[in-house]
This record gives sequence, C-alpha cells and structure tokens, in this order.
Amino acid sequence: DFWEQQELQQEVAGQGIPQNTPMLVAVRARPLSRDEAERGEFGIVRVLESRVVVVLDPQDYDRNLQPNRSKEKKYAFDYVFDEDASQAEIFSGTTRGLINGVLVGFNASVFAYGATGAGKTYTMLGALDSPGVMVLTLNDLYRRMRSDPQYADSDFKVRLSYLEIYNEVIKDLLNPTDSSIGLPLNEDPVRGMVVAGITEYDATSASEILQLLHHGNMARAQEPTAANRTSSRSHAILQVSVERSERTAHVVGQVTCGKLSLIDLAGSERASKTENTGLRLKEGANINRSLLALGNCINALADGRSHVPYRDSKMTRLLKDSLGGNCRTVMIANISPASTQFEETLNSLKYANRAKNLKTKVTSNVQTVAAHIADYQRIILSLRAEITQL
Ligand code: ADP
Ligand code: MG
Repeated sequence: DFWEQQELQQEVAGQGIPQNTPMLVAVRARPLSRDEAERGEFGIVRVLESRVVVVLDPQDYDRNLQPNRSKEKKYAFDYVFDEDASQAEIFSGTTRGLINGVLVGFNASVFAYGATGAGKTYTMLGALDSPGVMVLTLNDLYRRMRSDPQYADSDFKVRLSYLEIYNEVIKDLLNPTDSSIGLPLNEDPVRGMVVAGITEYDATSASEILQLLHHGNMARAQEPTAANRTSSRSHAILQVSVERSERTAHVVGQVTCGKLSLIDLAGSERASKTENTGLRLKEGANINRSLLALGNCINALADGRSHVPYRDSKMTRLLKDSLGGNCRTVMIANISPASTQFEETLNSLKYANRAKNLKTKVTSNVQTVAAHIADYQRIILSLRAEITQL
C-alpha cells in the first residue's frame, strides 16, 4: 500500500509528520465501450505490471491493426489500473490509506482528472450497482468510526457537503437553486475555507449517501456540446469534514478536525476541439483556468515556492487548506482506450506525469533511504547465499 510505504519510509528517515507529503499519481484506463467497438474504434492503450501504461498513435497501426511497437510511448506511475480493475481495487489502491489521517485531523484530497467520457464520474461516484471512490470512502470511514478499537473512546461528528463549481460559480448540489450568483467562499479561522450557506448533511450512514450523491449529481450542469452529448463542464466536489472528540477524562476537550475533498474535475479537453462559441467558449476558458490553477499550485508547492497561487481560481481557493503542506493528495488520471481519443489520452498522461515528476523531487531524501534499504537487502541476500554454499 502506497501510503503505508510512505509512512514506513518517513519513520526510517525520522521525519515524523511529513512536511511535503508526496502525491500519489494513478492512471485508470476504462474498457472500450460497445458503441466504440461498433463504430470501428479500437484500443490503443496497454497496461504493464500495474505500473506502466503504453499508448500508441492509431496511425502507427498497420491495416491488420498490428502495432508498430517502436513508436509506443510509455509512462510509469505509482499505479496503473487496466480495464479489469474493480471499483474496490481503485479505492484500496489510492484512497483507503487517507482515511485514518482524516479521522485524526489531517486534510486530504483526491482528484479525478481526464477528458469527458474518460471515466471520471464512474471512478468517483460510480453507478448505483458499482459505487465509486466517494461511496466506498464513506463506507470505510463509518465502519472505522464504529468498530476500529483505536477509536473506542472517540466521538465523531461528520458533515458532508456536495458542491459544483461551474463558470467560477459555486452551487450547492444537495440543495440546488437557480441562483446565478452562487455561494460565497469565506476563510474561517477554525474551520479553514468554508462555503457560506452550503448544506451540511449530518450523515449517519453510508447507504443513504449513495442515493443522495446520485440525486445531487443530476443537478450538475450538463449541456450538449459539439464533441460530446453529455459533456460535463463543471467540477463536482464532495467534502467530508470529520470532527473527533476524546471521551476519556484525562485529555479533556481534545478535538481534531479533518477534511477530505473528493473531486470529479471537469473535462480536460481543450475548448478548440469542441468548436465552442459564446457561452460554451467562456465555460471552456474557465475550466482551463481552474485546471491550470490546480496545476500551477501543485507546481509551486512541489518546488517549495513561498507563493502558491491559490487565489487564481475558485477551486484552488476552496482547496487552499486541503492541498499542500502536510495534506495528502491523490491524482487519478482517467483515460479512454479508444483510438479516436489518442490526443486526449496523451495529454492526460502528460499532465499526470508532470505531477509524478514533481513528487520525486519532494521526496528525494526519502528515496535515498529506500535505496539504502534495497542495497542492504541485496547484501543480506548475497551473504545468505554464501552461507548456504559453505
Ligand atoms: P466522465 O465523467 O469522465 O465524462 P464517465 O464516468 O461518465 O466519464 O464515463 C463514460 C462512460 O463510460 C459511462 O457510460 C461509464 O459508465 C463508462 N465507464 C467509465 N469507466 C468505466 C469502467 N471502468 N468500467 C465500465 N464502464 C465505465
Ligand atoms: Mg463526468
């Protein structure tokens, strides 16, 4: 498990609570749909060893669809999930390791990135019969609060809000109204960034949440564009705030507050491709601005720059207290395997690859330790081999 390994390595390095927590970067390739296959599209994506994704320009296939392997592009990530990966596998590989941290007062965020139709909503929300990361996370969270002996003396209060950012306007998905002004964003000295007037659902069970989220999702802005009939041009954000208080007498009044943000980002495709004009074009510009701002913030944080441009978009302002510092971050880049989506797939892999490269920079000292351990293990193995030879 990625996060357990990070903890182990940090323990070895004697770092305690990490100051620049790395980002887990994963890729998920969805299956080719029946419609796509019927239209004569074919898969151009291969996954190797759950770590490497290989993609090939459809032009580099011959008439019999034999690939010209010399032209393949390869990218390595913390995890690469192929079309057979279950929702549960995605959840355990990326997000499950964040939950304990949230229960003891740390903030974390999970982003689903990718072009429209690549599988972001399937990954985050899922279908009614195959719930995604949002629902599996809440299930696990409730299970731990109830039955993990570690929390036998803790009382929890969970608040859920589900909101949309569309054209830089914040809308409450649990209580949608037609207001075009949207809800204001405030900075609270105790709670961090809060959306004023947002519905905070005091949830007690995970089963009702599935329905609630699906209902909320139907209120998202989804209008047809030239490229996709159900293009989603809004960012959907589920925020889970967990307040924990200790019941034991000798630690009177200790309260921790953790927040987990689960984000189904708007489609990353460029406005030009959808031949948008007018309102659509403005939407495209705003979406790019939010995604650009997100990329710039991650960049600045990883470089250790003192100025992080959180203020450049609504989304990065909202996530100011959940991105960077010691907040753990997961990026799941969703890609389509279809030949017609080659450019979008390549763009998404490049975006994700940038985030990954930044990570290695931040954790260089940790990696040195890991390398030493690997060296020692090799030495032990060769010594052992010598002993058995004697
Ligand atoms: P996005 O939110 O990125 O626009 P969706 O999540 O809506 O894309 O996915 C597009 C279509 O592909 C949907 O019909 C969805 O059910 C299907 N799909 C996406 N990912 C998977 C998957 N891993 N397995 C099966 N179907 C998937
Ligand atoms: Mg979607």
